[in-house]
Amino acid sequence: MNTFLTLERVSKSFVSPTPIVDRFASWAGRPIVSRAVQALNDVSLNIGEGEVVGLVGESGCGKSTLARIATGLMSPTEGKILVQGQDRNAMGVEARKKAQISIQMIFQDPLSSLNPRMRVIDLIGEAPLKHKLIESQQKQEYVAEMLNLVGLDPTFMRRFAHEFSGGQRARIGIARALAVRPKMLICDEAVAALDISIQAQILNLFMKLREDLKLTYLFVSHDLSVVKHIADRVAVMYLGRMVEIAPNQTIFGSANHPYTQGLLSEVPNIDARHKKFGGIKGEIPSPLNPPSGCHFHTRCTKVQSDCTLHQPAFKQLSEHHYSACHLNTLLRP
Ligand code: SF4
Repeated sequence: MNTFLTLERVSKSFVSPTPIVDRFASWAGRPIVSRAVQALNDVSLNIGEGEVVGLVGESGCGKSTLARIATGLMSPTEGKILVQGQDRNAMGVEARKKAQISIQMIFQDPLSSLNPRMRVIDLIGEAPLKHKLIESQQKQEYVAEMLNLVGLDPTFMRRFAHEFSGGQRARIGIARALAVRPKMLICDEAVAALDISIQAQILNLFMKLREDLKLTYLFVSHDLSVVKHIADRVAVMYLGRMVEIAPNQTIFGSANHPYTQGLLSEVPNIDARHKKFGGIKGEIPSPLNPPSGCHFHTRCTKVQSDCTLHQPAFKQLSEHHYSACHLNTLLRP
């Protein structure tokens, strides 16, 4: 399988605004200490053509930042993004524009991402016209084709977004993304705001589009049951670092990292009433002041003395299975 998208050692930090108390203190001569949040820390990920990769982790772990960087909506502080082997930063204007539209993002709340003053025909038809993928006289026919593709009645194209249900708006958002003929969709919690029955319909639509259009996906979700249903491979993040990457069956059958194991124990299942509830203890620490060594050591039930001192290396455990935990070094020669 050829690689479609590569994130190579990507880091992203944000400088948080100085609190008002510190600003007053600076007038009194006390130096201001800059507070940087490391949202992503040396993250690498390859996504193959036609592959579906699920990206999971608790809120604040950096998965949405990674999604925005992968889409090109945000630049990394360090590291490279390669689209079909080409460094996005080294591309000429035209190639960069092409790479940009080949990756489209589907947002969690379609209503806030759809202009309320535009009719569906314009919401979907505007971008392909702008990028000269269609002529203006083709717009109506093209929008009808996109609406059919996502299972909506083309006669709705003169309506506004607020006239649709949540599930229909999600389909409009998908049709808008597909209208520029992308090769990859990045779905950031794309079904999180939907009812469970509608979620299943939209997930099935994503899978149908994958088959029909040979699409590649990065599926960002806090919900492991959604990712289990849709992903070929799963990447797990904690406080800005990648902690485990493995094929779907490995993650859901024999996860290695204590954090992944903790997340899995929180997924509701039919046998839960026969088991003692595990789950991850404690709150996710502040990214402004992450724990030393392994970031997970404050919550890990298997913590060792080394864990507080050194960051564990991201080790290959078997083909396609990588994990960052000191126990892998202790248990292996
Ligand atoms: Fe737990 Fe240590 Fe492994 Fe981190 S490195 S997950 S603290 S055992």
